[in-house]
Amino acid sequence: MKTRKLYEEDAYLKSFSAKVLECTAGKKGYEVILDETAFYPEGGGQPSDRGTLNGIPVKDVRTKNGEIVHMTAEPLTAGETVQGVIDFERRFDLMQNHSGEHMVSGIIHNLFGYDNVGFHMGDVIQIDFNGSLTWEDCRKVERLANEAVQRNMEVHIDYPDQETLDQLDYRSKKELGEDIRIVSVDGIDICACCGTHVRKTGEIGIIKLLSAEKHKQGVRIEMVSGKRAYEYLAMVYDDNHEAGTLLSKPAGQSAEGIRHLQEVIREKDSALRELSDRYFDLYMNTVEEGQDVLVLIEKNLQKNAVQRLVNRCVEEKHPGTCAVFNETGENRFTYFIVSRTQNLREKGKELNARLRGKGGGSAEMIQGSLNASAEEIREAVKEIL
Ligand SMILES: [Zn+2]
Repeated sequence: MKTRKLYEEDAYLKSFSAKVLECTAGKKGYEVILDETAFYPEGGGQPSDRGTLNGIPVKDVRTKNGEIVHMTAEPLTAGETVQGVIDFERRFDLMQNHSGEHMVSGIIHNLFGYDNVGFHMGDVIQIDFNGSLTWEDCRKVERLANEAVQRNMEVHIDYPDQETLDQLDYRSKKELGEDIRIVSVDGIDICACCGTHVRKTGEIGIIKLLSAEKHKQGVRIEMVSGKRAYEYLAMVYDDNHEAGTLLSKPAGQSAEGIRHLQEVIREKDSALRELSDRYFDLYMNTVEEGQDVLVLIEKNLQKNAVQRLVNRCVEEKHPGTCAVFNETGENRFTYFIVSRTQNLREKGKELNARLRGKGGGSAEMIQGSLNASAEEIREAVKEIL
């Protein structure tokens, strides 16, 4: 490689000057190779840095054919000296999150013996492990990780010789290349890594695990660290505070308030069901028995009440075909149709095509929704059913 990696020597370097070795036109702009750079190229799960070279935005940084390539919108001249400036807010966030990930992966490895088998840094940090963890396990890992953050421990970067490496039990033991870079925190983690890290664990600030979902043979953990974790927790607090105010519950009791609300809704649902059944009892008296096609146009029925009404009509009034249309908004209906005499699969398609609807089912029963007026529905039904 032609480029000296300044980011490996000092992850806190925010600006630097370098000589342009090459600048070629690529598919997405210009590809610049420098004699040294503080721009981290995407790799090892860590996204690339952003920033500028002589004020020109660097859109991406990648390792291509063994060289670090800076993608710029405008060309630079080979031989010239350029000033590089790193978007350090973005970089420091990546440092906090990458170091936080190491702590969590290291603690999980120590406690459970699992390996980190997938790592992605997006809006949240995703880590896949080759073994399963309960949420309780995760909370223990999170507590230990945050204790290590509070102890403000040193993050060591070393390049041990081959003999030392052979003796060393570290994570990410993959290829046997030269200059294996070991990132470690005493008693917490030892890992081969080319990424940028904070100097001391205290700079990570907070480590918050967000979820642990079954993934392949193991588990996928989502987490955030640093300022991102603080912002996340502040957002969740505000949301919970608002929910608590709406529920008249103090912090930490929103779930209890929601459980109570759900109980109230269940009671109301069952009262509504009883009322609609009594309404159907009266309604049935007005329906004539044994018609070929019985069409009922209703309004604001509960979802399952539409089906109950169709079933009662079929059982008590014996029509050949029974269709119930339930208005849910202006010219918006849901429908449920049952037939003993017609093939509804074909008729349903015709009905949907004509009344801007969708849905389907079997030859005997179809359901769906459509956009039409009650008048249009009556006309269409007369012609199609
Ligand atoms: Zn790493």
